[in-house]
Amino acid sequence: MAERSIPLIDHRHHSARPTVPAHAAVPDGLLADRRGRPLRDLRISVTDRCNFRCSYCMPKEVFDKQHRFLPHSELLSFEEITRLARLFTLHGVKKLRLTGGEPLLRKGLEQLIEQLAELRTPDGEPLDITLTTNASLLARKAAALQAAGLKRVTVSLDALDDAVFRRMNDVDFPVADVLAGIEAAVAVGLAPIKVNMVVKRGVNDQEIVPMARFFRDNFAGKVVLRFIEYMDVGITNGWRMDEVLPSAQVVERIHAVFPLRALDPTQIGETAERWGYVDNAAGEQREIGVISSVTNAFCGDCNRARLSTEGKLYLCLFASRGHDLRSLLRDAAGYTDAQIAAAIGLVWQGRDDRYSELRGSAAGEAAAAAKVEMSYIGG
Ligand code: SF4
Repeated sequence: MAERSIPLIDHRHHSARPTVPAHAAVPDGLLADRRGRPLRDLRISVTDRCNFRCSYCMPKEVFDKQHRFLPHSELLSFEEITRLARLFTLHGVKKLRLTGGEPLLRKGLEQLIEQLAELRTPDGEPLDITLTTNASLLARKAAALQAAGLKRVTVSLDALDDAVFRRMNDVDFPVADVLAGIEAAVAVGLAPIKVNMVVKRGVNDQEIVPMARFFRDNFAGKVVLRFIEYMDVGITNGWRMDEVLPSAQVVERIHAVFPLRALDPTQIGETAERWGYVDNAAGEQREIGVISSVTNAFCGDCNRARLSTEGKLYLCLFASRGHDLRSLLRDAAGYTDAQIAAAIGLVWQGRDDRYSELRGSAAGEAAAAAKVEMSYIGG
């Protein structure tokens, strides 16, 4: 087998078995971690596979032909995912985001969405079910996803310039097909749609204003473009600070052409800083967002947990250890819902993660050495 240039830590073997408390207290939805942060948002990776090879997430030289993806038997079944999602709602989760890899590669995803759409919070409210996709299959699947109960969708698009985009996804995939996916999603009512652009200085930062112009002039405000600072996720993307373009400069560049004004967050724990266009007509909602994990960390009210494709719970995007919930689901002991919910609660109560606040410090360096890959737990 060819020598790999970049080491990859196989997180499939780096996890702890959660403790099942002797007395499983009934969840009261008031769960908080060691920093007082509630649990509101569960990101569920439904596959570790992707048909793109974006260099900042799944570099081709690591995730090459020899890379062994998880066999189907290792993945959580739709029933197991739905059972876990239901238990997380008992602890306060109100939003589910389906991610990957590329979630639309998971066969029958509509069936999972149907199952999740039947779930209710303890107050009887439906969950906010959304999905992050590279849109390569969205034009074909938008109607079925919406009919299954999907509410919204986030699309990754790193450039409008076809040559730049093809280089960044590293599989020669055209911009036109991603835009066709966005149009299909708008047409079936999966709005507002968020489009995420990862900005890498010297690679696609020249696309910032063209992207802003395109999405402010098309889709009648139904698409919100967000600019994401290039992050040191995992250990394979060769991240360097000098390739990060701070969000403040992104806003400056757009403001110079299309004046912006700051908008208030829509909810606690929102990752994006919102900016509206000054020339919006009355009632018009055209805006952009910036997500600044590197230059303006937002760990203070981070209420997000992540579930890997085979059932490991991660408490931070930059975590280096997971908690193996699948081992409880599939244990011959037949743990009850109350026991597994209590085990989830115990894990969250012990959470102290704040990697983005620690980045660059000694503690941050120590944590950085074995970070999980974003393609494994979803963005
Ligand atoms: S670095 Fe971790 S704790 Fe901080 S906002 Fe991101 S996921 Fe949350």
